[in-house]
Amino acid sequence: ATPTALMVGTGRGAQLGILIKGPEVLESTRKVDTVVLDKTGTVTTGRMALLAVHTADGTEEGDVLRLAGALEHASEHPIGQAVAAAAAERAGALPVSEDFANVPGLGVQGVVEGHAVLVGRDKLLEEWAMTLPAALARAKAEAEAAGRTAVAVAWDGEARAVLEVADAVKATSAEAVARLRALGLTPLLLTGDNQAVARAVAAEVGIDEVIAEVMPEDKAAVVKRLQDQGRSVAMVGDGVNDAAALAQADLGLALGTGTDAAIEAGDLTLVRGDLRAAADAIRLARRTLTTIK
Ligand code: ADP
Ligand code: MG
Repeated sequence: ATPTALMVGTGRGAQLGILIKGPEVLESTRKVDTVVLDKTGTVTTGRMALLAVHTADGTEEGDVLRLAGALEHASEHPIGQAVAAAAAERAGALPVSEDFANVPGLGVQGVVEGHAVLVGRDKLLEEWAMTLPAALARAKAEAEAAGRTAVAVAWDGEARAVLEVADAVKATSAEAVARLRALGLTPLLLTGDNQAVARAVAAEVGIDEVIAEVMPEDKAAVVKRLQDQGRSVAMVGDGVNDAAALAQADLGLALGTGTDAAIEAGDLTLVRGDLRAAADAIRLARRTLTTIK
């Protein structure tokens, strides 16, 4: 009689916007006790906006927007899209970049109008033996303390600006976290972004545990470490950076609004990208399992 019960479960799931890959997935929902939530694009909308441009002495804001915007135009990252959109709006038509490279978890680099341009974390600048001048480092620290993400812009071997970007927490995230807690699950925020931003977002949605500044390739290792501590882990993510962690988790929930890589790696897809569906999916799967037994 089990196939019928499963079909009912998955049919109801489809109505709620939850796609379940196979019956074996249901079993994992029973034991999960921890839910790891990716920040950008999962807990937040992932649609970032450029809020401020801080320039070093002697650097023109127009040049920063044109060069950084041209480079980020080739990026699929929410930060890159925000920078490119704002630059196109304020600086007009953008030049074409050459030799574009995305450095996962760090930023982007390439050549624009003959200049070698970098946009990203301090760590990316350090790889090119550059550091932020004191005034820019201060602007960056202030932005981060306010819960914003600040990235540096450099060209021709010199750090010249800091861009402040931020995205909004999804309207449904706090309620989703509350529903996950009501199911007895401990939520945890995982991100490549800095500690201050991660803490601000976590506080806004009611999460106490934060693991920040995690490189994309290390997200799966974080999940593994939690499992080694005896926790049974559900992971919710949207990005290509989340795919390995979704596969490593005992239960991988991919947002349907996310990348194909994440959807392929997940056990469940939350079609509408609404985080509350993560709690609904676990509750529904547990109930379906009870019906079968
Ligand atoms: P998350 O885990 O929050 O989705 P990522 O691992 O994608 O974050 O990125 C981590 C950090 O790397 C970002 O917060 C940013 O500082 C930097 N970064 C990544 N991509 C870009 C980009 N296209 N432009 C500028 N900075 C970037
Ligand atoms: Mg993400």
